[in-house]
This record gives sequence, C-alpha cells and structure tokens, in this order.
Amino acid sequence: MPNFYFDTENNGHKNFELPGAKPHYNPDRPGQVEHIFLDLSLDIHNQICCGVCHIRLAPVRNGIKRLTLDAVNLNIQFVKVDESPVKFEYDGESLSIQLTQPAKINQPLLIAIAYSVEKPQRGIYFIQPDKHYPDKPVQVWTQGEDEDSRFWFPCFDYPGQLSTSEIRVRIPKPLIAVSNGELMDIIEDGDQRIYHWSQQQVHPTYLMTLAVSDFAVVADEWRGRPVNYYVEKGREADAKRSMGKTPRMMEYLSEKFGYPYVYPKYAQICVDDFIFGGMENTSTTLLTDKCLLDERASLDNRNTESLVVHELAHQWFGNLVVIKHWSHAWIKEGMASYSEVMWTENEYGVQDAAYYRLLEARSYLSEDSSRYRRPMVTHVYREAIELYDRHIYEKGSCVYHMIRTELGDELFWKAIQTFVQDNAHKTVETIDLLRAIEKTTGHNLAFLFDQYVYRGGHPDFKVAYSWDGDAKLAKVTVTQTQANGEKNGLGDSFNLRIPIGFGYIQSGVECKTFTVRVNEKEQSFYFPLTQKPDFISFDIGNNYLKTVTLEYPIPELKAQLEFDPNPISRIYAAEALAKKGALEAIKALALALKKDEFWGVRVEVAKQLAEIQLDQAFDALVIGLEDPSPFVRKAVIQSLAKIKTHASYTAVTNFVQNGDPSYYVEAAACKTIGAIASASLQDQQPLAEHVITLLKSVLETKAGWNEVIRSGAIAGLAEFKDSETALNLLLEYTKLGVSKPLRLAAIRALGKISIGQSPTNLERVLDRLTEIAKETFFLTQVAVLTALGQMETPKAINILQSLAHQTSDGRVRRYAEEEIAKVQNNIGPEKTLRQLRDEVNQLKQQNQELKSRLENLEAKSSVLN
Ligand SMILES: [Zn+2]
Repeated sequence: MPNFYFDTENNGHKNFELPGAKPHYNPDRPGQVEHIFLDLSLDIHNQICCGVCHIRLAPVRNGIKRLTLDAVNLNIQFVKVDESPVKFEYDGESLSIQLTQPAKINQPLLIAIAYSVEKPQRGIYFIQPDKHYPDKPVQVWTQGEDEDSRFWFPCFDYPGQLSTSEIRVRIPKPLIAVSNGELMDIIEDGDQRIYHWSQQQVHPTYLMTLAVSDFAVVADEWRGRPVNYYVEKGREADAKRSMGKTPRMMEYLSEKFGYPYVYPKYAQICVDDFIFGGMENTSTTLLTDKCLLDERASLDNRNTESLVVHELAHQWFGNLVVIKHWSHAWIKEGMASYSEVMWTENEYGVQDAAYYRLLEARSYLSEDSSRYRRPMVTHVYREAIELYDRHIYEKGSCVYHMIRTELGDELFWKAIQTFVQDNAHKTVETIDLLRAIEKTTGHNLAFLFDQYVYRGGHPDFKVAYSWDGDAKLAKVTVTQTQANGEKNGLGDSFNLRIPIGFGYIQSGVECKTFTVRVNEKEQSFYFPLTQKPDFISFDIGNNYLKTVTLEYPIPELKAQLEFDPNPISRIYAAEALAKKGALEAIKALALALKKDEFWGVRVEVAKQLAEIQLDQAFDALVIGLEDPSPFVRKAVIQSLAKIKTHASYTAVTNFVQNGDPSYYVEAAACKTIGAIASASLQDQQPLAEHVITLLKSVLETKAGWNEVIRSGAIAGLAEFKDSETALNLLLEYTKLGVSKPLRLAAIRALGKISIGQSPTNLERVLDRLTEIAKETFFLTQVAVLTALGQMETPKAINILQSLAHQTSDGRVRRYAEEEIAKVQNNIGPEKTLRQLRDEVNQLKQQNQELKSRLENLEAKSSVLN
C-alpha cells in the first residue's frame, strides 16, 4: 500500500479517499422516468431471472437520439421502443439504445427490454439448500442499494430518478412473492402462480424489491392498513416478539414527522443470508432473519427493536423524501439512526436515550480515530457503498440531535415536518434541510453544518476547574486540544455556545447555568458565585458531539458522579475519577456501581473500575455480578477479564457452569475465563487445560439462539494464542456445515489465535483462510478479512491482496485494503512495542501490589487521625 494511510495533511487522520477515488455526480438526464414495469419469471433451481423490463420515459428535451441505461452482466435479447425493435449496444455494464427518431418533449417513449440473468452475483440472490446446509430455506430476494439494481434489471440507476413501479412475477407453488406497493392480483397457472404488485408513489430504483419464499405470514395492522411480518415457517412467535411494536412505531413516526405513513401496506420480510441488517425498500423492508428474537434473547437484545424503527423511519427519510445523490445519504441515515434514539426515549426514557446517543457518538469517534476523518457530505469516493459508514449513520444522528438542541424541541419538529411536507415525493440535498429549518424557524444553522457536516472532525475538549474562595470565583478553562490555535471557528477550532452548570446539592440538586461561547484553542471563564459549587457540569445535557476530558479535583468529580442528573456527565466523571486511580476513586465508583439508578452508568462504572490498577478494584467490581441488569452483569464480566486472578476466575466460571438468564452474559463469561486462564498459561498449565476442556464442552452442549453462547466459547478459545489444542478446536468449527454464525465466529477467531502459534500451525491457519476466502458470501469474506487483519505475517497481506483483487463488492475491497495497512502495522515497529508493553505490564503488576498495600495503610492511618 502507498503511504496514503499515514497522510499527515489530514491532521494526523487517515484519508477517506483511497487511491482511485474521484468525484461522482448524477448523470445528465435524457428524460424523466415515469414508470418501470418488470414482467418476470423465476427459475429458482437454475438461478435464472428472465423477462421484460418496460420503462416509460418522458424526454426532457428535443432531439435525443441515444439512451444509456445501467445494466450489469445481463443477457439482453432485444430492445423495442414504442413496440418497434431498435438497435442497441451492450458491453456488460451499460446498454446504449439508438432511437429511430429523435425524441420529442411530451411524447413519452415506451422502452421494452427483454433480458435474463443467470446465477447473478449481486442484485438478486437465490438461496437454496445445499449439501452442507440441507435445511436452508428456498428464497429469492433482492438488494438494490446503492447501485446494485442494475444487476437484476436494466434501469437509470441513480436516486435522482423517481418513478412509479410495478412487478409481476411468475413463481412455482407454494412460494409467495412480496414486492413494493399493493398486491393487485394473484393468477393461478397450474403449478405456478403469478403475483402482481404495484407501487403508485414515486421512488428510486434502489428501493425496488422482490422477495420470494414459502413464508409464514403474521398479520398485523395500522390504521386499517396491513402490516405483515414474513418469516420462515415455525418462527411466527419470534416474528411477533421481534416486530410487534411496528404499528406503534408507525403511529409515533407519523406524528413526529407530521406526515402519516403514506404507503398502502408495510411488510417486513426476514430473509436468510442477508448481507445487511435491514433494507428499507419502499413499503417492503427486508431484514436479516438473525434479528428474530426468541424469548430469552428478548431479555437484553434491543438491537432488533432499533433495527425495526430504523428501517421504518426510512419510509419517510429516504423513501418519501429521497436523497438526490449518495453524497447526501447522511440526511436519511442520520435521521433513521436518530429515530433509534427517539424511539429509545419513547420506550425506555431519557437516560436510556442519552446513553444510546453516547454509544452512537463513540461508534463515530472510533471510526474517526482509527479509520479516517471525512466531511459527512462528499462526492469523492471510489464506490458509493464506501459512504455508508459511521459518519453518515451515527455522526449524522448526533448532528440531528444538535439541530434539535439549537432549535428546541418544538421548533425542531416543526422544521422536520416542513422538510418532509415540502419535499414529499421529491429529491433533496443537504441545503434543502437548512432551508426548511430557516423557513420554519428563522434560524440559520449554516454555522453548525459548516462545522459538523461539510467538514470532518469534532471538538476535543479538556476542561479544568478551580475555585478561588476569597474572590468567590469559579474558573473554568476550556481547551480545544484538536485545534491549531486559530480563532473564531476557523482552522481546527470549533465555535459553539456551550452551557456550563454549577451544581449545588441541597435538598435536591440545583444547577446555576451560564452559556459561554467557546471558540478558541484555550479560553478561561470566570464565574462569580455566592458559594462554592459541589460539582461542575460542562455542556449540560451533553448535546454537542465532542470528546471531553475533565480535570476537576476528586471531590467535585465524586459529587458529579453521584448527583449530576445527566447520565453522560456521570459517566464522564467516572472516567475522570478512574484516571486519578486512588482508593478514593474506587470507593466512589464502587458506590455508583451499587447505587446509580441507571444501568448505563453502572455499565460504564464497571468498565472504569477495571482500569484502576489496584487490587481493591476487584472487590468493588465483583459485587456487580449480582446486578439485576444483564447489561451490567455482562460489563462486569468483561471487565473482570482484565483482572487475571484466581478470585476473578472463580467468580466468572460460575456463570459458565451455572448459566445466566442472558445469552450475552454467558457468552461474555466464556470469553473472560479464556482471557484469564490463557494469561496464566505459563505457570498454571492445568488451569489452561481445564478451561479449554470447559469451553469445548460449551461448544458441544450449548447450541442455541444465533449461537451467541458458543461464539463466546470460540472467543474464549481464541485467547489461548500458543495452544495447539485450542487452535485445532477452532479449525474444526470453520468447516462447512457448522452453523453459520458459529462458523463466522470461528473464522474471525483464527486471526487472534494465530499470533503465538508455531510456524507449522501458522501455515495451517493461512491455508485455511486462503481456502475460505474463495467463498463469495459477503459475511464470510468479511470474517476472513477480520482474521487476516489481526495477523502478524506478510503472508496475510498476500491473501488480502488477492481478495481485494477478486471481489465484486466495494466494501470488501475497501476493508481488504484497510486490513493490509493493519497487518503492515502489526509486523512493523508495533511488534517491538508490544514486547516492551508486556514488560511494562509485568512491572505495573508488581507495582500495583505495593501501591494497593500502601493505599490500605493510608486509609487506616486516616481513620486513626
Ligand atoms: Zn439505514
């Protein structure tokens, strides 16, 4: 790879644009597509889709002689315009049609293209049982976004073209077909049926879909309109459990967006081997069948609920209001992701919503620091699919929240409603959102968009506080550590108005708030107060997307952790306290782990406790194993992986042997005992062997929902980096025929376990990954990439290079190139660094013992004083 990845021009951040990236625009429009009608027939056994694609096109100007459509790897039999055959050229990517007469405005052209596609690699997917997976259902489903519709029908394949659509499809009985819009009729024809669906509202080609299988249908309704859940037979109860809130969500979003759900029905179809979580095809969302929850999974899986509301929100943001070009995809993905936050608030309350937003922010922050930094709106890329990253989803959501913060709740929703109403059945760009806000509220948020949308990054704040008792002045110094020193929002500094609160604990908590303009690299603010505050709350409500490091004295941090009404502020206080590392910090965190009313804070406190290198952290943590929230128990168990002692091991093994109501808690326990036992492999060989045997028995006995528990056991085994026994077990589970989610976990784990293996075993891992890399299933390829990216041998790079070369998937290509950079890093100076780090850790461990004893002595002496 070129040193592109280490470009220093981008302020130390890697570049989004990979070599070969170039500007992309919508093509010139010869005319307006008015209607698309696909008249198809499926030969499922032979994986053939054939038929005629009819397109009615209204020319936008006179004199057009040639039309160019997107059509990839199709067999084109003939093309007719207005029922007369015409000449065409086809190169496997675009279909160029020569018109017999130049087109005229107001004289729509009726284009008919007879075509077929056999064993397609993209666009339309044929799922069937095979010798390794004989129980697989027979299914056909499509995936258009972003530019894959052209793989299953010829079209003007970009989101700027909106039209009505219609799909008629002949399929064998007893299969059923679901598509966009309304079911017009079903015609019986011997052992076949013809389904006819029609969509009267305009939409782009990427949202056209077809799903075929012998589905079970669970019928629900919203305001008299059908809301159907299509699942594999036998999963009916899971369907209701997983998607049953849909009608309530439709009501909620109809109200919030100020526009009642517009389509004649809403279908959600759970399909096998789906390559995304979900896809919001107009009125016909496709979801991965992995989202179907059994009763036990529904205890602590909220992902499905979030997925359901996300795809539903797209029916407005994306489908009713369509983005004109992929570069503005944040408008729809940001709002769909923000709908997850809103729905969380509606269902679980404001603290849960605030925490959900923090997790979204972190997801973006991690991409920003580890992958690249980019503006949310950019049209420079290699393939549009690269844009579907944590910037447009999670950061997009955070930007919507900042808009809400700037406008206030009432004006925010008014503006959103204006945006939806003004742009329904039309295409939009980012500027249209700004205009709707300005039109409705008078507020010009260009400053916010300039800082967070049109350029990359976010402020990294360091906030220090001190109190001058004589002058009764609070001094707060805010440093933007990302900034290069230029003023007023130019350069890298952000220009925002941030509320700072001073909290007083009396009978309740009272907060005195000042709003300051933060716009320089470093600013000190002085606040005259009648009395010393108990705690300081920077960015009250934590509404701005940022990172923040608090440099307050311990008493203020303790008070904030205990009393700040905002859970995110409490979490920041916990982080700052943990950095202090003293026994006093542990006591405060221990109290929060026991007492904080919100599980999200307890989760974060558990994480922070494990960061403190004092033996007392364990005593504080272990109590959290009895927490009523499975989220907290899981976090505690994950934290205990860092405390590699026998006591820690015993506490966690209990969960592996005796179980827990939550799948995820048991899975975490399996991983943690692997981490603890593998660390003591050298001196306690019998323990390591015992744990490997235990995890093996988990693999043999705990098959179940989405293989969560067994995947945990796989992750536990992966910790034994120099164990051949563990490696052999993992390899066993990478074989075809092993249930898919488990196999994917085993493939991913090969990367981690390869690191300490003998040269012979390393070769075995590489051979296995080379073999698996030949499989074309997207998720398998991603698992292979993940494994290779963790390896520390140049041979991994060779496999990655050939994967990048062969794949037809833009994401796989991109990931492969990113993983190559990782391996280069792994085998570079990093390796030496790690050895040093190991040595330092040993020293730390010894030091910790001494320090812990010292802290105890000090604690005792302070009692004596
Ligand atoms: Zn989405």
